[in-house]
Amino acid sequence: MSWQQRINAALNERRAADAFRRRVAVEHGAGRWLQRDGERWLNFSSNDYLGLSQHPQAVAAWQEGAARYGVGSGGSGHVSGYTVAHQQLEASLAEWLGYPRALLFISGFAANQAVIAALAGKDDRLVADRLSHASLLEAASLSPAQLRRFTHNDVSHLQRLLATAPDGQQLAITEGIFSMDGDAAPLAAIHEATRTSGAWLMVDDAHGIGVTGAQGRGSCDAQNVRPELLVVTFGKAFGQSGAAVLCSDTVADYLLQFARHLIYSTAMPPAQAVALRAALEIIRSDDGQQRRETLASHIRAFRRGARTLGLTLTDSQSAIQPLIVGENDQALALAQRLREQGCWVTAIRPPTVPAGTARLRLTLTAAHQGQDIERLLEVLHGARQ
Ligand SMILES: *Cc1c(COP(=O)(O)O)cnc(C)c1O
Repeated sequence: MSWQQRINAALNERRAADAFRRRVAVEHGAGRWLQRDGERWLNFSSNDYLGLSQHPQAVAAWQEGAARYGVGSGGSGHVSGYTVAHQQLEASLAEWLGYPRALLFISGFAANQAVIAALAGKDDRLVADRLSHASLLEAASLSPAQLRRFTHNDVSHLQRLLATAPDGQQLAITEGIFSMDGDAAPLAAIHEATRTSGAWLMVDDAHGIGVTGAQGRGSCDAQNVRPELLVVTFGKAFGQSGAAVLCSDTVADYLLQFARHLIYSTAMPPAQAVALRAALEIIRSDDGQQRRETLASHIRAFRRGARTLGLTLTDSQSAIQPLIVGENDQALALAQRLREQGCWVTAIRPPTVPAGTARLRLTLTAAHQGQDIERLLEVLHGARQ
């Protein structure tokens, strides 16, 4: 097959399976409303869990940062792009999360790729939860290290896989809160298993940071665990983008030598680092605490209401509340009916989730009001008739 034939065949296959992906350009997609073509919907598909993407202090900090530093960093952090704004944000993150060091990355995807590529060699073994995010599994499958996957949240399966040592080292990989299911990993038991076998643990807490734990310190804090490598991202509760890896001094020094996503890529704009520090301050403040409480009360109200309606919920206690539908066409049709009733939800289909588990991934945020959750339940009730 020529390139063109191969591309056409791949696209046709996606179309035939109701799995063709399209983007929609919106006028506004974060916060309480999604706005498009002058119309608006209640937004149940953003990861802006605390509503901070629209927070006046975060917006002002970005503006002030741009006025002071300009809009770009001008280079890789290894050349001239690492400013005092980046340094201060790293120091604040390290102090907040109780690690010696934090290193900033431009995205969670880049951080996960960089860490796994820099650490794992051909004699090593990566042992990842089967439902880990694509950025982790992709990095692991591109790595020369052996990749084994353990059954989702199954600590005894993890233990069995770790029990036979490879020639090199082992790194266990999981998430704090799973992105498509919303459930939490048993981090204490997982860390115990890795420690016993001499493996290291890497936790990606994209969906826990800012939202759970004291001061929003995340899933590890909530479960009193300190993995050797903690990845936090700023595209969710922080309401912006970017990521950081929290680690020891020596691991940070090692990543600065060998993490190619850091060395060969332009540092995030310093203004963004200023805005991220403002978001961190909000997260740690009473304002952040109130937002977490608002979100928690929306989650409780949604789960209570959904149970009353007889909807099947997962055991997620997080802002991610999936309704598993099954087939792609059913999930798309249900999402469409909800949109017709003013609620914007996204159908998530394979390969993002396992085949036969197409779902609506509903996300609740502190930007919602109590009546929004009631409206969602009412519309779900009607759409499922
Ligand atoms: C969103 C997400 C990422 C990617 O982070 P970005 O900063 O958006 O690139 C990584 N891991 C998990 C678990 C995520 O949900």
